[in-house]
Amino acid sequence: MKKNGKIGVTTENIFPIIKKFLYSDHEIFLRELVSNAVDATQKLKTYSSLGEYKGELGNLAVSVKLDKENGTLTISDRGIGMTSEEIDKYINQIAFSSANEFLDKYKNDANSIIGHFGLGFYSSFMVSKKVEIVTKSFREGAEAVKWSCDGSPEFLIEAVEKNDRGTDIILYIDDENKNFLENSEIEKLLKKYCRFLPVPVIFGKKTEWKDGKSVEKEEDNVINDTNPLWTRKPADLKDEDYKKFYQELYPFTDEPMFWIHLNVDYPFKLTGILYFPQIKSNVDPNRNKIQLYSNQVFVTDSVEGIVPEFLTLMHGVIDSPDIPLNVSRSYLQSDQNVKKISSHITKKVADRLEEIFKNDRTQFEEKWDSLKIFIEYGMLTDEKFYERAQKFCLLKNTDGKAFTFEEYKTLISANQTDKDGNLIYLYASNRDEQYSYIGTAKDKGYDVILFDGQLDVHMAGLLERKFEKSRFVRVDSDTVENLIQKEDSKEVSLTDKEKDALKDAFLSQMPTIDKTEFTVEYKALDMNAQPVQITQNEFMRRMKEMSAMQTGMNFYGDMPNNYNLVLNTEHPIIKNILTETTGKEKEAVEAYANEDASIRQLIDLALLSNGMLKGEALDKFIKRNMDSI
Ligand code: ADP
Repeated sequence: MKKNGKIGVTTENIFPIIKKFLYSDHEIFLRELVSNAVDATQKLKTYSSLGEYKGELGNLAVSVKLDKENGTLTISDRGIGMTSEEIDKYINQIAFSSANEFLDKYKNDANSIIGHFGLGFYSSFMVSKKVEIVTKSFREGAEAVKWSCDGSPEFLIEAVEKNDRGTDIILYIDDENKNFLENSEIEKLLKKYCRFLPVPVIFGKKTEWKDGKSVEKEEDNVINDTNPLWTRKPADLKDEDYKKFYQELYPFTDEPMFWIHLNVDYPFKLTGILYFPQIKSNVDPNRNKIQLYSNQVFVTDSVEGIVPEFLTLMHGVIDSPDIPLNVSRSYLQSDQNVKKISSHITKKVADRLEEIFKNDRTQFEEKWDSLKIFIEYGMLTDEKFYERAQKFCLLKNTDGKAFTFEEYKTLISANQTDKDGNLIYLYASNRDEQYSYIGTAKDKGYDVILFDGQLDVHMAGLLERKFEKSRFVRVDSDTVENLIQKEDSKEVSLTDKEKDALKDAFLSQMPTIDKTEFTVEYKALDMNAQPVQITQNEFMRRMKEMSAMQTGMNFYGDMPNNYNLVLNTEHPIIKNILTETTGKEKEAVEAYANEDASIRQLIDLALLSNGMLKGEALDKFIKRNMDSI
């Protein structure tokens, strides 16, 4: 038998398209060919178990071989093989009937169209000047055939000798792709794409170091684990197994905190294991990414759009045959199955977190600092997740105690409701810098939340919108009397002249601080309260913090930091300064202020408790105080 023919593609020449557009990544040809070999092997196993194939199965491993001399890469299997009719049907026709249907449906979406043509076998032409298929069907009496094609739409098919059933795909690697003739390159790709395939894949022999060089051993180099953890039953697995698998996936990474073994049958198939990693400081979303598989074939590790954004911080694997191997990202994101998968994963993650919270709150609290980023990120970006997570999201106070939203509300309602019935949540963003403010608030019987995480400013905004009649106020944003206004504040009974005198006296002693402005405020506080305090307006500060994180809000970011210098007009020291300065000219007031060390001292103390006394000003402060000892 010998036959010449034309490949049945409607497009005049499909190969340039394959080479240029279909795959940006040349390397995926290997994944396609090895998974075809695995499929053919699995099919044979199925026929055998159904009794349709009665012969020996024998060794079913797939093998990948390099022949540098001849410039070939061969992928061999002992699967079902193909008859010449089957080659005609599956290879020559390129299954274009279904493609036409598809083209009709998606004619307005170029990406989907390109994405759909995962032409599997034909991707081999991305890297080859010639491809041969030598194959023999498992069916009794089948004749072996050889198909060859040099990248033009013409092929040749002829009878050959082949003893064993199965298929060899022989690639004559072209000049631009010589790197695919390197052992190390092929090994790397096999490890990347084929690491968990269900049939053993052999690439040469195992090697060992002997007398300073690497020598081959007898043993085959099997590059894959055919039975990865996620394909096994959770009931058969121990914690140790999950931890070990995590180390296999991400060597040299700290132990994970928790994991979720996903196993869905309906309405789509999905298995996988997702891990919550320990988070030490800032998260790097580009490390240890979630890997996506389709029937144990690696697809990608950029899972955006498939996994909800906040969960891309998790680690692990997801395997779903319903996620097609070769489609484009935009196609994936509009795919209904993929959407369902995404919301299913969100639900499972929420279930698991709630379960740990309910069954082992102590552990949950211990791990809160690492969990917090996921949970907050999820609550900020996913309404459904917020609904679930509000039951177990925690607020930690500056003493390290943790409360649920409900518990915290109960804790503070009696003492932290203002005169208008608003519940005031006090928070600190830095325990050390706001130390004295925290202390003053606590002395008044208030509780202070510690909001020092990456997303906490956003959380404050979100919770303010979600909670009824509630406000979040940072401890240093006002004097403690005004943080939570219990009654109308006392009127300040100063004349404009008196106010000016105080202002001149204090501003003349204020050290200059870069990008910082001070506005003098007068408040009739308790006579035992601090005479001078520095506060920063909550709204302005939050705007600046948000703009630091987002682009496009630079208006706020560029403005100087504005602080209030609050003078307590009821305090004896302030009253005394007032008596000494009122009615005097500005110059005289400033001269007085220069002489009277107490003004300087009060300012410095206020700056100091705000962490704002630095450099020369701090040095002078220390010297002055040393002198007075
Ligand atoms: P797909 O795998 O997506 O169907 P391919 O172009 O990769 O598309 O392969 C087309 C068909 O060729 C396969 O469906 C299969 O029937 C046949 N085929 C490819 N490789 C092999 C192989 N190694 N053994 C047996 N049949 C194969």
